[in-house]
Amino acid sequence: MPARVRKIAIMGFRSVGKSSITIQFVENQFVDSYDPTIENMKIRGQDYQLDLIDTAGQDEYSLVPQSYIMNIDGYVLVYSVTSYKSLEVVKVIYEKLLDMTGKKQVPLVLVGNKTDLRMEREVSADEGKRLAEQWRAAFCETSAKENQKINELFTSVILEIEKSEGNNLQE
Ligand code: GDP
Ligand code: MG
Repeated sequence: MPARVRKIAIMGFRSVGKSSITIQFVENQFVDSYDPTIENMKIRGQDYQLDLIDTAGQDEYSLVPQSYIMNIDGYVLVYSVTSYKSLEVVKVIYEKLLDMTGKKQVPLVLVGNKTDLRMEREVSADEGKRLAEQWRAAFCETSAKENQKINELFTSVILEIEKSEGNNLQE
């Protein structure tokens, strides 16, 4: 079976770890300079080519560029568990995405990153989980630094995309 190509946008407030998550996934490294784009993975027997669009970072005032939204199959919305502000920003981005796509629901994973910074946590796992439930989106907490749950995150965005396309991948 040929690889299914899926385009995934990584969005969120600045410094939440969008690029670090992407580079950890693609190169298994935690570094400060990066230019990643494509990663192949196999999920339940199906090959995928993931085209990752690591955005420059949004705030509550910036528009989500229409060019990002075109042809995007799934979204990874990242906040940092150390920043309540970044959670608020992700809510605004979500509303804008629905507005721009004209949809009630989009394939989405909500991600709370930087779980390794235990002493600096401002957002509980429950709070993130509740928001994701409200959106009927998948949820996970990650650490790009410690490579925690990064692969799981990209597996779940693929599963969300397949679900939205009416495909049920075999268990
Ligand atoms: P972006 O602006 O969302 O792309 O964020 P970056 O990936 O550039 O990361 C912003 C800063 O947070 C950098 O200093 C990273 O090293 C740091 N960072 C990213 N992810 C993590 C993480 O999981 N844990 C910790 N401790 N730091 C992280
Ligand atoms: Mg970045």
